[in-house]
Amino acid sequence: MKIIVANAPCYQWQGQPYQEDSILWAWRRSGSRWSHSIPNSLGGYHQYPFMLGYTTSYLLENGINAMMLDSVAARHTYCQFFSIIEKNKPDIVITEISSGTLQNDLQIAKKLKDFGTTVILTGNYATVNYQSLLKEYNFVDSIIRGEYEKNSLQAAIDWEHNKLEKYYDYNIFQNLDELPFPYRDDNLIWLYLDKVSGTAGQNQKSGRKIFIQSSRGCAFECKFCDWQVLTDHKIRKRSPESVGLELDYLINRFGNEIFIYFDDDMFNFGDKRTRLITDELAKRTLNWGFLGRIDTNNIDTWKYMIERGLKSASVGIESGDQEIVNEMNKKLDLTEALKMCQAISKDIHLHLSFAHPEDSTEEQRQKTYDFYVKSGAKSKSESMMVPLAGSDYYNELKLKGKTDKDIEFDGYKQLLKNQDISKLRSIKSDDLR
Ligand code: SF4
Repeated sequence: MKIIVANAPCYQWQGQPYQEDSILWAWRRSGSRWSHSIPNSLGGYHQYPFMLGYTTSYLLENGINAMMLDSVAARHTYCQFFSIIEKNKPDIVITEISSGTLQNDLQIAKKLKDFGTTVILTGNYATVNYQSLLKEYNFVDSIIRGEYEKNSLQAAIDWEHNKLEKYYDYNIFQNLDELPFPYRDDNLIWLYLDKVSGTAGQNQKSGRKIFIQSSRGCAFECKFCDWQVLTDHKIRKRSPESVGLELDYLINRFGNEIFIYFDDDMFNFGDKRTRLITDELAKRTLNWGFLGRIDTNNIDTWKYMIERGLKSASVGIESGDQEIVNEMNKKLDLTEALKMCQAISKDIHLHLSFAHPEDSTEEQRQKTYDFYVKSGAKSKSESMMVPLAGSDYYNELKLKGKTDKDIEFDGYKQLLKNQDISKLRSIKSDDLR
């Protein structure tokens, strides 16, 4: 049997297709905490899709002929995507769907079904809305809820015995050290870039950045975040030794001029573990960065990391207005966060998310810009807060009677929509900071 674990393409035209003044928007889905579209001409932002990579390697380890197909990173057209499917003739395609790409994803699922393939949907949106999806779309054979390594294998076994379940409820790895290292495609590995965060990684001699994960699950419950849907609110951390083994594997495979980027839920939670992983990196004299929080290490640990190869850290601040931060349930003290940013300064990238346009005022936005300027951070990225399926924000809107059709899920396009759209064709990635 053959399984393709896919990140299918999703493009949307703004304006008439192929016209001079039209823009092709390309969506980011798997691997991104925040599915959104950017003008296709920009490229340059592809986060490594950990679930695809881990599921592929786990299936391979268990004797299943699995293939990872990341058509988003490869920037495949729809024709290319389907010709790969046609050529490989998979028995099963497992593919993530997301809030913003739903209609596109359902059309793809239907077409996959027309090819005679068993279609299994997964991802946060499918996890939350599995019942309605199964009821409404008969081309959906099954849905896997939450992290999907174990359930993909179970579905493969069940498929072989003609016993595929309609859905597979959460069955996640408790001990992450037991997972094989994620599958990394030689043809795509250097396309995984995040030019708007972890900026120092882009300036390394080799520019070779590798995403790695040291934990899953998060202790916080930010209102806009849908990450808990995938992880079922379960916090798990790899041992520093296991991370060290993966670093050795990566160095052996790609050389030691790689830039390691931890795209984690809880990489820097707690000083002791953070320092132990830092030691693993320092032993191998690697340059590295991470996505994390500003307030979960003391200043001595930040200095410890910087002295041992840390080149950049991306942290979520979201807003410079404490009330908004509280409303987002970010549980972040802005006064303390500002002091910490100033103490660390040059290597920090801030993630800023404006509140939903209905709640956001110029004064609040100004406070956010002021925070950025005062922080001394090296760079920032901005987005609109969107109610991703499964987040508290989404659930709140549902309770108010909103349907998915009423919601704008693309936080980046929303931010840009009031700008002169013609400029987007020549926008540089630096402009996104
Ligand atoms: S800190 Fe907040 S935004 Fe970050 S993963 Fe945790 S819940 Fe999500």
